Amino acid sequence: MSMQSLEDLFVDKLKDVHDAEKRITRALPKLIKAASSEALSNAFEKHLQETQQQIDRLEQIFGDLGKSPGRKTCHGIMGILEEGEETLGQNAPEAVMDAALIAGAQEVEHYEISAYGCLKTWAEVLGKPDVVSLLERTLDEEKKTDETLTKLAGTINSQAKDGAESEHHATVMMPTRRGGNGSSRATGRSSKH
Ligand code: FE
Ligand code: FE
Repeated sequence: MSMQSLEDLFVDKLKDVHDAEKRITRALPKLIKAASSEALSNAFEKHLQETQQQIDRLEQIFGDLGKSPGRKTCHGIMGILEEGEETLGQNAPEAVMDAALIAGAQEVEHYEISAYGCLKTWAEVLGKPDVVSLLERTLDEEKKTDETLTKLAGTINSQAKDGAESEHHATVMMPTRRGGNGSSRATGRSSKH
């Protein structure tokens, strides 16, 4: 497409973030499954629902502008999600894996915060107040998600560190959400803890 105006730039970025959100809705179910901390899994679940609403908001904006989302590829998010896939393939104690999942998810949120921040500013400059308020709602959700992840990291990073300090029973020390049978990483619980 040609990018001759701020409006063109705005629509191009909107397409980019639409593709990003679609990819994120496909990635989040894997994070929900992989997280051992129930609080973390719930946070991913909540954000999946928000992300679906964010896609609806974007499609509302496209409709209002008389544009279509098209088939743009968001290479930035694609790269972040590919690294996330690599993380999921690693063998790690539960809390270490959770810490890694948080780090990856925060990369996604920071990318989105940056993208929606630009979009919101451009919509202001272009004089589109209805679009601004839709983008602002999404931007707030991304910021809140980032804050929630930071809070969860406070506990999970400490658990990951404690696990590493007594590596020989790292797998039995980590609290497990699903008990001994359903988890692929936990081997059981220690009666001492
Ligand atoms: Fe999002
Ligand atoms: Fe997000």
